Amino acid sequence: MGLLSLGTPLPWDQAKLLAREVRKHGIEQFLHIWRNMKDRQKDRLLWGDEIEYMLISLDHKNRRARLSQRGHELLSQLQIEENEKLDHASRTGEKPELEALWRPEFGRYMIEGTPGQPYNSTVAELTNVEANMKKRRDIVTRLMKDNETILAVGSYPELGSGDFLEPPHKANGEFSRSLFLPDEVINPHPRFRTLAGNIRERRGSKVTINMPIFHDANTPRPFIDPTIPYERNLFPGDKEAREGAALPDHIYMDAMGFGMGCCCLQITLQAPNVNQARRLYDQLATVGAVMMSLSASSPIFRGYLADVDCRWNVISAAVDDRTPEERGLRPLSKDRFAIPKSRYGTIDTFLGSDDGHFKPEYNDLPLVYDKEIYQHLVSNDIDDLMAKHISHLFIRDPLVIFEELLDQDDSVSADHFENIQSTNWQNVRFKPPPPNSPIGWRVEFRPLEVQVTEFENAAFSVFTVLLARALLAFGDINMYIPVTKMDINMQRAHSRDAVLSERFYFRRNVLGDGKVSEMATDDDSDEVVEMSANEIINGSLDFVGLVPIVQMYLDSIEVEDSVRAKIDAYIDFVRGRADGSIVTAAAWMRSFVRNHPAYKFDSVVSSEINYDLVVALDEIGQGKRDAPELTGIGVSGL
Ligand code: ADP
Ligand code: MG
Ligand code: MG
Ligand code: MG
Ligand code: MG
Repeated sequence: MGLLSLGTPLPWDQAKLLAREVRKHGIEQFLHIWRNMKDRQKDRLLWGDEIEYMLISLDHKNRRARLSQRGHELLSQLQIEENEKLDHASRTGEKPELEALWRPEFGRYMIEGTPGQPYNSTVAELTNVEANMKKRRDIVTRLMKDNETILAVGSYPELGSGDFLEPPHKANGEFSRSLFLPDEVINPHPRFRTLAGNIRERRGSKVTINMPIFHDANTPRPFIDPTIPYERNLFPGDKEAREGAALPDHIYMDAMGFGMGCCCLQITLQAPNVNQARRLYDQLATVGAVMMSLSASSPIFRGYLADVDCRWNVISAAVDDRTPEERGLRPLSKDRFAIPKSRYGTIDTFLGSDDGHFKPEYNDLPLVYDKEIYQHLVSNDIDDLMAKHISHLFIRDPLVIFEELLDQDDSVSADHFENIQSTNWQNVRFKPPPPNSPIGWRVEFRPLEVQVTEFENAAFSVFTVLLARALLAFGDINMYIPVTKMDINMQRAHSRDAVLSERFYFRRNVLGDGKVSEMATDDDSDEVVEMSANEIINGSLDFVGLVPIVQMYLDSIEVEDSVRAKIDAYIDFVRGRADGSIVTAAAWMRSFVRNHPAYKFDSVVSSEINYDLVVALDEIGQGKRDAPELTGIGVSGL
């Protein structure tokens, strides 16, 4: 999650009255940042990853695995250590020796870990990433009880099904009002339950999430979920399930926690200047879908095998706060805009940069933006594309407002800007520098699903960083496709085994006019073709491929042999995921379930299967069990 302010969050009926005020100051804060920071140059290519973990409590005697609410307690302990070290450093003037930083997430059972400081810009530093990730696991493990462990997969298979929570709680909470998820799964910091409550209030109903069920041999057709308490009458929204919100042949979910309770891997990259950040934002956006398909780790929701492998659409629906008018179900009367997409989704507009590749027709989505804010930005010398981006983010209301923090000095605070910015959850995020800080313009790459092992998480992180470095080094590379095609790609990337069976829209000629390599043609056509993940990643007769681009970059700089060998192992892993020689965690988990002796081929992942699956994943994560088919280690010479 983004910023975490302290204080009293306002309930929706009060918060909504202040939305205009927050937006107004948010824009002034952005303008201050822009004026002060737009000319920053030569920032270092610092970067960092974020890994989200779930704390699991294992009951070996009864063969049960449960999400543990102690995640929050563990996080407090981790942060005490962090603060003590920072205190010590500020008292002594020494550099703080922090190996990791720990941050809260939506789920009370979740913990987010990042490196203690961003990684530096050297290629050699890329060989330290996996070790840092391992260190994070060690640091948490020290504080865990014997029966506890941390797991990194996209969605927890049993979330919202059976007695999945330790300690157990009934689903009867006022904030989510879910039929399945107790409010006790939510991080106790007031920000998080207010987010859940205010999204529901603003929307005017509970969120509605339906993921297609995986129809196995014995799954009834149509599948009408017998575990939904259709007849509950605790909250007015209880009737939604029986009145059509719960679709047949789908896994129905009704709370923010089903989405924001998923885990992911994010990578934040600092660019030398604002223009290069804009370039990275646009170019990385176009590769998000194919990268997500390689990283898929979410095949099970609420105890059922799904016909999808990724979490993305679940989160998108889980935070969809649009009112019926905004969703286009009723004509606009009270609301300002009809808005086609949730505030969690793919970007709607490219930023353009000074690389000369952007064309207006790539922004082919009729953009919804706040015209008044747009005019104000443009009259303050913000260019059209940046003004569109910001005024598009600002069509949303702030969801959580802290009474104590309303009054800000817009020249030194970014709180109101960040309030809107950090609740626009998109496949890439353009992160302006915080006011008065040494931090530069950054881009966050957000579509990746988290991986079971540090090796895999490091491989995706390193590959993403190298691709970004190649994009900065070779300004000719142009991967623009129309944004509407990016939307389609993201939906395709979601489907079961997308990495093997889907085709994605991609620009055929990405190398431009020949300055990058002899492989380039001087063809500058805008042709967009459909290719498999394998073709996009590894290349084909007609297409260079992202792995060869990364290798061209590595060949163009000096890299020590040992460093290159380690990096090549990561690249081989990415290559293997794309060509199918190693499988995604989603495919691995699905196959584990379907081969479990207790599985009845009815899509049901029982508590017994869930336990065995979690134990197996945990053993893989800890390096106690080999899974070459998943990680490639031992298969492709890694
Ligand atoms: P958020 O949750 O808002 O995305 P976090 O602070 O949790 O932000 O994570 C941001 C990531 O950015 C971390 O991996 C951190 O190491 C990294 N980071 C911190 N400073 C910089 C910087 N100047 N440039 C690039 N990355 C940075
Ligand atoms: Mg996070
Ligand atoms: Mg974070
Ligand atoms: Mg975050
Ligand atoms: Mg992040």
